[in-house]
Amino acid sequence: MPSAIALTPVTIALSTDSHSAPAEPPISANQSAQSGWRGLINAYRRYLPVTDQTPVITLHEGNTPLIPVPTIAAAIGRDVRVLVKYDGLNPTGSFKDRGMTMAISKAKEAGVKAVICASTGNTSAAAAAYARRGGIRAFVLIPDGYVALGKLAQALLYGAEVLAIKGNFDQALHIVRDMSEHYPVTLVNSVNPYRLEGQKTAAFEVVDALGDAPDWVCIPVGNAGNITAYWMGFCQYHQEQRCTKLPRMMGFQAAGSAPFIAGHPVEHPETLATAIRIGNPANWERAIAVQHASQGSFAAVTDAEILEAYRLLASNEGIFCEPASAASVAGLLKVKDQIPTGATVVCVLTGNGLKDPDTAISHSDNQLKHGIEPDLGIVAKAMGFE
Ligand SMILES: *Cc1c(COP(=O)(O)O)cnc(C)c1O
Repeated sequence: MPSAIALTPVTIALSTDSHSAPAEPPISANQSAQSGWRGLINAYRRYLPVTDQTPVITLHEGNTPLIPVPTIAAAIGRDVRVLVKYDGLNPTGSFKDRGMTMAISKAKEAGVKAVICASTGNTSAAAAAYARRGGIRAFVLIPDGYVALGKLAQALLYGAEVLAIKGNFDQALHIVRDMSEHYPVTLVNSVNPYRLEGQKTAAFEVVDALGDAPDWVCIPVGNAGNITAYWMGFCQYHQEQRCTKLPRMMGFQAAGSAPFIAGHPVEHPETLATAIRIGNPANWERAIAVQHASQGSFAAVTDAEILEAYRLLASNEGIFCEPASAASVAGLLKVKDQIPTGATVVCVLTGNGLKDPDTAISHSDNQLKHGIEPDLGIVAKAMGFE
């Protein structure tokens, strides 16, 4: 094992230094820094539908931080603990990587040559990255004009074949579903069961980090795959007695595209949170089942509330998420009177703020000061120093 050999001199050097702390036991090859975290399939293999024959297509996704956000907890005004699961730190910048490592590994195992998805952006970025890594073609259909800049940049550079259609996400999903029935392409939207299997690992990580399940999970809802996957993960861990309780699942939709609150599909969904601009969620029945089983609820947050939470997270906590992700925190603040005192709440931050620089710049309270002369006095004065 090359890595074990490379470590030997270090171990010797330490053990000859009589003042050093007692030498640590030799590091075995599979514990070395090189292979510390090898992606969620390797970490949670026993809970996933993979075998030794499944080729693992991974970018070492998962293992994202669960970060306390005390200013959000303070805004609730009672004794509550609030943490964010920052899944924007995955390799392509969103939780979609969790599902895609599974979907693409299983596609590869089945000998698939091409995959297809409809996407508001993040699914296409993840599908493109994992498919190309697995040597598979990726076709993506996106709603023309409604995909954030960073996501489009990713899909193009990863080498997906990107088709922008003159329609919304729901129409694009309809087409790719038909495509996968009539052509040799495998669908990797969240109706692909392996996607949810991969995504449920986020719930495992939350429990592993907290030592138990939280009381509430707040989550943005688009197609409702993620809320379903989290619930699957908590239930599986509960069955295995890795946690003693189950959380209430609180799903939040943007007010302009809130079919679960309306009780019917929304034909023309609108919101600046483009990742959840979905009028007819693909996982509709599952989401309702999760709501009932977890005694959770759905609520809508306006774009103004989303932006407020988006700015709060960045300027008070140093956490930059994309607008759709901030819907989880906006929702928590909206229903804060319902939170039991002493509760632990996890808000899921589904995607990275860098995905959508346009929204950040156009909706920041902060102004860039242009055209300052490169002169110490002028710069100091511009900073407010006299
Ligand atoms: C996909 C996505 C969502 C919505 O997740 P669903 O599983 O479709 O409900 C939310 N936020 C971001 C950033 C996403 O990419």
